[in-house]
Amino acid sequence: MQTETASQRLKRLLDEAESYCAAQGAQLTHLRRLVLEALMTATGPVKAYDLMDSLRAKGHRLTPATVYRILEFLLHNGLVHRVNAINAFVACSDRHRSAHNPVIVVCPGCQTTLEINDEGLYTSIFNRLGALGFDIKDGAIEVRGVCRKCKEGSVS
Ligand SMILES: [Zn+2]
Ligand SMILES: [Zn+2]
Repeated sequence: MQTETASQRLKRLLDEAESYCAAQGAQLTHLRRLVLEALMTATGPVKAYDLMDSLRAKGHRLTPATVYRILEFLLHNGLVHRVNAINAFVACSDRHRSAHNPVIVVCPGCQTTLEINDEGLYTSIFNRLGALGFDIKDGAIEVRGVCRKCKEGSVS
């Protein structure tokens, strides 16, 4: 089996997202696809304004209102996640695209995120908080965790 190139992989993931949206009765329009592509090719979470800048650099001028509307659409369809700790957005790293509530680990050093989809882990935090009278806001649980790279970097 031939290994696909990065651009082939990107196209495949975007096509998958498009058919997933279609199956939900939603449309991944050209602009929505562009925003999703920008998030998928980013090395980590991106702030809305940086997203706007990178799209402008590619010749697409989107207003903040448009970008936020598109991000809402992508969030609603589970294609991206909001990382509240750093006020940024990250493309979902989950392949099956169904609605899901991940645990997102955010490194305070390099702002890398790791998405963990573990229903048991999520449910146990969810239930424990619920018993204490707290509801999880916006679905995702965020955890601050220093990544290996940052830990190794801080040793020297
Ligand atoms: Zn996800
Ligand atoms: Zn880090």
